[in-house]
Amino acid sequence: MMKKWEENIRRVVPYTPGEQPNESGMIKLNTNENPYPPSPDVRRALEEMEEESFRLYPDPSASVLVDALAEYYHRPREQFFTGVGSDDVLAMAFQTFFNSDKPILFPDITYSFYPVWAELFGIPYEQPALDEEFRIVKKDYERENGGIIFPNPNAPTGLYMKLAEVEEIVRKNQDVIVIVDEAYVDFAGPSAMELVDRYENLLVVQTFSKSRSMAGMRIGFAVGNPVLIKYLNDVKYSFNSYTMSQAALSLGAAAMKDQAYFQKNIRKLVATRERTKKELKALGFRFPDSGANFIFASHESCSARELFEALRERKIYVRYFDAPRLRDYLRITIGTDEEMDALLAFLQEYIRKERIRKL
Ligand code: PMP
Repeated sequence: MMKKWEENIRRVVPYTPGEQPNESGMIKLNTNENPYPPSPDVRRALEEMEEESFRLYPDPSASVLVDALAEYYHRPREQFFTGVGSDDVLAMAFQTFFNSDKPILFPDITYSFYPVWAELFGIPYEQPALDEEFRIVKKDYERENGGIIFPNPNAPTGLYMKLAEVEEIVRKNQDVIVIVDEAYVDFAGPSAMELVDRYENLLVVQTFSKSRSMAGMRIGFAVGNPVLIKYLNDVKYSFNSYTMSQAALSLGAAAMKDQAYFQKNIRKLVATRERTKKELKALGFRFPDSGANFIFASHESCSARELFEALRERKIYVRYFDAPRLRDYLRITIGTDEEMDALLAFLQEYIRKERIRKL
């Protein structure tokens, strides 16, 4: 029986993060982390951190990081907001910008945190279906709504939508805020950031977790016109003024300054992704053409769930979503070339055995 005091408790169905196993010999391709270390400048900055960074509260305005972002992207610092990973930035953006009685819109297949935030903050929402090929149907976003959010590239499909199409959605929804979640954009193509000077209803959100190899430091940021950024800061300062640690601020700034390393890292990962696509295709896998650091793949003659379990036995971790339209697929993060070779060798053998079994 429910206790009296339980009646007043806010109950939510939480987001399920990918598991974080830590076993020797494992190949971890389940949470879209970067397999390479961050810039060596990050370690150097860590070693040089002053005693004050531990003893004092961090700078609530995150200025070292904001300055580094402003310099890298050649934009005014008033256009940036930072937070504890893009999850923190997105959660605050939901709370700040989605405050209408009309439903916000996001795709039926997308980052599964969106419905969780909407429920938590009591925001009504609708989820227009992606088409058969997992593409966003633009005309579904032309109806009345209380705001729009979608990732580009989308997750877990990996599909990147051209900037002109993103712009069309933003242009047709100038009475509401449109958030483009660009967690994976550095692996794909141009960012919608270049549209923020023209569309004051656009907020672009990015992260250091993937392309900058810093998931453990929890650094995310938003870019938008200064009025949007001010509203975001008002909510942040009403919630927790010191969201980011001084370590995250200093190390994030150090990462931002090493452009050459960053670009080399991205090129390497994209080359591995493209090679993996070719090899998966040759093994009979099908997948949307990913622009992200993962591939969302299915195979006609293997059950994704069984394959997921078999990979797990071999300590190769990938992500499986037991949900309609997703349960025939595995989301495989791009690791190092060696890790992908081990994965591909396993898959080749597994499929060969499946063929024999089914004869
Ligand atoms: N958006 C999308 C689409 C993601 O896949 C992720 C990673 N789980 C995030 C945002 C959040 O990433 P982080 O909080 O590490 O920046």
